[in-house]
Amino acid sequence: MLNLPNLEILDMKENDDDYRFLVETASSPPFYCPKCGTVANLYKHGKKKQLFFDLPMHAKRVGIYVDRQRYKCRECNETFFENLLDMDINRSVTNRLID
Ligand SMILES: [Zn+2]
Repeated sequence: MLNLPNLEILDMKENDDDYRFLVETASSPPFYCPKCGTVANLYKHGKKKQLFFDLPMHAKRVGIYVDRQRYKCRECNETFFENLLDMDINRSVTNRLID
């Protein structure tokens, strides 16, 4: 329904004005610690829901909650979130909304 192949829809709610999706990443892209660059010594460290807005659908606003995986690096103790290829993280919207 969202046509965002990197994301898997877990739940969808609808009311008169909004669609609200809950999603998680279908497959994590390759990633590394942004501080020290290690790829091997990372482990999962909780999740956090973050809201992004997408293109309106059927004249309703579309909000996407991403249950975003957080990781911690054993080398340098940095924590960071997985990449979201479809999202503009700083603006909390999908890339296609900006396009
Ligand atoms: Zn690190």
